[in-house]
Amino acid sequence: MNKPTTLIAQLLAPLVVLDSSIMRVVERQGTIVAKRQRIDFLRHLLWCCLLIGPMASGAELKALLVTGYDPHGHKWEETTPILESVLQHNGKFDVEIATLSSAQEAQAFAPDFGKYNVVVMNAHGRDWSAATQEPFERYVNGGGGLVVVHNAVGQFATWSAYRAMIGIGPGGQQDGVGFKFDESTHSVVQIPPGEGVKQNGHGSQHEWVVKIREPEHPIMAGLPQTWMHTADELYHGFRGKSESVKNLKVLATAFSAKETGGTGNHEPVMVVNRFGKGRIFHLMLGHSAGAMSCVGFQTVFLRGTEWAATGKVTLTDVPADFPSAGKSSAGKSSARPTVNKSATRKIVFIGGVDTHGPGAHAHKAGATQLKQLVDTSEDFRGIPTALHLDRLPEDLAELDDAAAIVLMWEGWEQHLFQSKNVAVMNKFSQLMQRGVGLMCLHAATAVGDEAEKEFLKWSGGNKKRGYSSHPMTNDLELSIVTPEHPICRGVKPMRFPREEFYRRILFAESAGKVTPILIATPPVGKPTDQVVAWAFERTGGGRTFSCTGPHFHDSFQNDDFRRLIMNAIRWIANKENPNESYQQEESK
Ligand SMILES: [Zn+2]
Ligand SMILES: [Zn+2]
Repeated sequence: MNKPTTLIAQLLAPLVVLDSSIMRVVERQGTIVAKRQRIDFLRHLLWCCLLIGPMASGAELKALLVTGYDPHGHKWEETTPILESVLQHNGKFDVEIATLSSAQEAQAFAPDFGKYNVVVMNAHGRDWSAATQEPFERYVNGGGGLVVVHNAVGQFATWSAYRAMIGIGPGGQQDGVGFKFDESTHSVVQIPPGEGVKQNGHGSQHEWVVKIREPEHPIMAGLPQTWMHTADELYHGFRGKSESVKNLKVLATAFSAKETGGTGNHEPVMVVNRFGKGRIFHLMLGHSAGAMSCVGFQTVFLRGTEWAATGKVTLTDVPADFPSAGKSSAGKSSARPTVNKSATRKIVFIGGVDTHGPGAHAHKAGATQLKQLVDTSEDFRGIPTALHLDRLPEDLAELDDAAAIVLMWEGWEQHLFQSKNVAVMNKFSQLMQRGVGLMCLHAATAVGDEAEKEFLKWSGGNKKRGYSSHPMTNDLELSIVTPEHPICRGVKPMRFPREEFYRRILFAESAGKVTPILIATPPVGKPTDQVVAWAFERTGGGRTFSCTGPHFHDSFQNDDFRRLIMNAIRWIANKENPNESYQQEESK
């Protein structure tokens, strides 16, 4: 660790900047190396194209599954993987999951809804920004599908368009009309304002019988007319404005017995509604993973999602273990494969307090942009993300299910990593030992002397005070040292009009394997001091990528730089091959 120069010379030796003669060339004339690497790059790109090819996905339909928060104790971490696997099981759907755990994440949520055939809501999320509500309304109004599962009916209480989409939801006697099935007339009837139960609710959880009331509807066609649902909450007393329920159809009801805390009515448990050209399937079942283990639940969820997406149902097979009128399918799961919890491990983005005024050291803007890039990237499909701005989550245990952590934070005495931050140091030490990926950008690569020893075990290099330099360079060119590395896949040498990538990093010799990724040209100082980005494989397992830029937020506009960072996120998360299943990679 005291001889960084020797180390880097060793590291560089087998790579592109091979021998001492080229090293001398680098010193005199950095551009030659750059040209040589462009040729390497072309060869490498051809190889990559052959190797990877276009993303081949057999699924016809794309679903966005929104989850991540529920103030009423619904375990979305357990139920979301069930919904995901039900949709993906037969290859009909590709599922992307948006995990919005904090209010900030929900506010920053801004997907391109047009990419999806259907949006599925699971759990009672936090409010979206008006800038996201409006395109969502346009999306559904224009024919986009929406599926609302159980407690997602209660979210967005003040968003009138959402209330109109779902038709009926929580409310009191005066909040519009209610619905029930009348056995005497054998028809669905409306409960006028002022009548019915005072407030919506549900009785105790128990098994109850689902009765189909619209047997011809595509979602219901061919299913047994009654079945015993696995123990679940039976919602009652839902209300909706009369103009919102003009097209509402009650597909199925269940009798809500007074003895179990219900209303004595046949309550709607599945409805469909329209909002403009959009189709909405509103499934009130599904309080818990246990309730979702019902084969009946899974079957109607799958059919209803296809119907919301396309207006048709082609997935018409009735599973052999579908529940009967007298016997539930509790514990069975014919429609879904085994759920591996590691499939939901997330990529966490952390953006610290901005310190340099607009455009520089913009940690929050950087973290937010990288999260959005991951959320909208094909390569990260289905992988949840989390975003923490200004501070770490109050409960550091929220980091425990991270596959990788991307850190944009101020350096040295403002760094997160300081020995006085005992809880933070302990948590990261634990995460690093468990092999969680880490990325440090710009100032986050600079840790003070007292925490340096620990940091070097995690990252392999440090921008050391009094040793490293931080030149602000006009027309800075960065060359690729290791084009064969997965992080460099498809990345060309890049140029920045003005940037500050730290140089002369202190590298650790003992903590793992350092692979230089980018060098700055033209050189300043010794060639070995030019490494500005490196990959690190920790001795005990786990990967870190460090890049000593960017100082300016605008530098993320450089396509090659962005590609490099995205490749690196995949690499640290052990996810560099987009065609491999995440689950496979996670099992050690
Ligand atoms: Zn519930
Ligand atoms: Zn800077």
